[in-house]
This record gives sequence, C-alpha cells and structure tokens, in this order.
Amino acid sequence: MFKMMVEIPGYSYPIIFERGIGSRLGSETKKIFRGQNIALVTDENVARIYGREIRESLEGQGFTVNIIAVPPGEKSKSLSVLEYLYNSLLDAGTRRDSLIIAFGGGVVGDLGGFAAATLMRGIPLVQIPTTLLAQIDSSIGGKVAVDLPRGKNLVGAFYQPKAVYIDFNFLNTLEKRFLRDGLGEVVKYAAIRDRKLFDYLLDCSGEECVDFEKVIPHCCFIKKEIVVEDEKDRGERMLLNFGHTLGHALEKYFHYEKFTHGEAVAVGMYVFTESSELMGWTKKGTAVLLKRLLDKFFLPSSLPIVKVDRIVEIIKEDKKNFDTGINTVLLEEPGKAYIKNISFQNLDLIYSLLSGQLVEGKG
Ligand code: ADP
Ligand code: ZN
Repeated sequence: MFKMMVEIPGYSYPIIFERGIGSRLGSETKKIFRGQNIALVTDENVARIYGREIRESLEGQGFTVNIIAVPPGEKSKSLSVLEYLYNSLLDAGTRRDSLIIAFGGGVVGDLGGFAAATLMRGIPLVQIPTTLLAQIDSSIGGKVAVDLPRGKNLVGAFYQPKAVYIDFNFLNTLEKRFLRDGLGEVVKYAAIRDRKLFDYLLDCSGEECVDFEKVIPHCCFIKKEIVVEDEKDRGERMLLNFGHTLGHALEKYFHYEKFTHGEAVAVGMYVFTESSELMGWTKKGTAVLLKRLLDKFFLPSSLPIVKVDRIVEIIKEDKKNFDTGINTVLLEEPGKAYIKNISFQNLDLIYSLLSGQLVEGKG
C-alpha cells in the first residue's frame, strides 16, 4: 500500500495505491464514510466485469448499494445522459449524506464526478479510476465535466474527491488499445519531467514489461508536483499540455474516431518535437528518442494526411489558447520542457510546424 496526499489550499485527500483494493472496497469505504447509501456510477462494460464483486464487497459491510451503469464511451458525457444520471441518483435515494463512487475510466470519472459536484450542490465523491489513462491523469486536479455538441468538457467544475483508490489489477482486463492510450500520457510525463522514467521506458521491450505498480504512482507524483507548483502561479500546469495543442486538434478533426486521446497526444508530441529540433529549439537527437519510445508502445508519431488550414483553425478556437497566439510546450531535451509562445502573426511558422516543411534556422 502506498498513500499520497494531494494538498490544495483548504483541502486535502489521499490517493491510495494498492493492488486488490477494489475487492476490499467495502472495508476501505467504511474508514471514510459513516453514512448508509452508496450510488456506484459506472459504465456497462465495467459493471459487467466488476459489478458483482464490488456490490458484494460494499453490501458485506452493510451499505445500501445502487449501481447506475451508463453506456460506455465519450458519448455518455452528454447533458442527456447527465440528466438520466441525476434522475437515477434521486431514484436511488441519493441525498447529501450519501456517497457517490465513480467507478470506471475517464468518462465515468468526469460524468459521475460532475453529477456529484452539482446534484444538490454537492454529494461526497470517491473516485476509482479503472483505466491507465484515468489512473494517471484524472485522479489529480479535481476536474470534472461533460461535453456539449460543440466541444468537449465545456460544462464542468473543480470538485475534489474524498479519496481516490488505484488498483493495478483493473488494468488486467483493459483492452490493449486502451492500455496504450494511457501509455501515451506516461511518455508525456517522462518527456516533460523525468529523464530516468524516459530511459526506463526506453529499456522496456513493450507494455508487458512496464512495471505499472511503480510507473503509475510516479506519474501521479509528477502531476501532483506540477499542479501544486502551479498554485504558486508559475504557469507550470501548462507543461502537462505537451503534445495536446495538436493532439486535441487532431482528435476533433477526426471527430474523436480515428485516434484515442493518448494516440493523438503521441502525434502531437512527436510532430512538434521534430520541428522544434529543426528550429534549434530542442536538443538534437531528442525527436528520434521520442519516436523510439512511441514505436515501442505502438503509438503513432507521424501526422496523417490532413487539411493543415483546418487544423490551424481548430487550434485557434481552442479555449486554452490566447488571442495573440498559442503557448506551445516544447522539449529542451528528454525530461525537460518549457513554454514558448508562438504568435498567430507567425502563422507561417505554425503551418510549417504542422506540415513538416521547416527550413532550418527559420523563425
Ligand atoms: P478513458 O479512461 O480512456 O477516458 P473510457 O472511460 O472511455 O476511457 O474507457 C475506455 C474503455 O475501457 C470503455 O469502453 C470502458 O468501458 C472500458 N474500461 C474501463 N475500465 C476497464 C477495465 N478495468 N477493464 C476493461 N474495460 C474497461
Ligand atoms: Zn491528456
């Protein structure tokens, strides 16, 4: 068992890393929740695999449990599914002294978390992320949200859970594609902050040999540090967006169908690193190492055929970008990142970054 406290001003909560903690959920919950009524929000896949075990564990400790399962996939992060969820929660007798457990991947964490944040102005929440991506990404920061037809995560809140439980066993049933999806973000953490992790991953022969029991807490630690440093207003949090400017645009361009999030981020990381190396903004040899790492986990790196104009438009619409330009995260070398503002006046440069037609030394 390994426990990490996340401390934000005025509030702190533990992330508990423990193999098998999912099957002991009842007794764990007993330690932090004195009420009776628990609503377990999950998706149909996760409910099928783990629903019974979780229910038995919670009921074994005398809790009343209602499992609410939504269809799997991003489409469930919609206002209509949210309304369905509110109604199901109320039907299940959820009140302010109940507990909502969001049990599933990022979709369930965001949707269930947002419902918990808003129903009756807030119901206590426990997060149990079951995908690699959710375990290393969504457990810290307290961001919860649903989508609107015009864009992802447009309706959301910051809502801190009472606790987060991370059980490595859940990864055993995860499809390979979703494991690799999360590995895209693992590579990101290594690339921006941790040369040792970067080298460790380079030494692995593939995802089978990655020791997730070490890597997951490590990534969570990096994220926590960056988020906490950001409280001191150093813009550090932006480093977590490495690969995401182009990654998000690609996801949107292909209507979230061609790439998983981690795959799109992988392309974003590599394309920008390759170009910034040519510009002399990144140490030579970095891009080739990054590519070697991505190849290892069967993550894509090259830009597919796209209309570059449209991609630039999407980047400009992104709510995170300033009117004047985009703050891109570039690597100094593997393990070290920095922020560089590229102005929209310099569209040429952005075009070149994307189309890989950079002239060395330009800009
Ligand atoms: P993400 O965490 O990548 O945002 P989702 O919440 O969409 O992703 O989950 C990805 C897919 O994996 C969904 O189809 C979900 O039902 C499934 N899933 C989540 N956790 C597990 C698990 N532990 N075992 C098997 N499938 C899972
Ligand atoms: Zn991401």
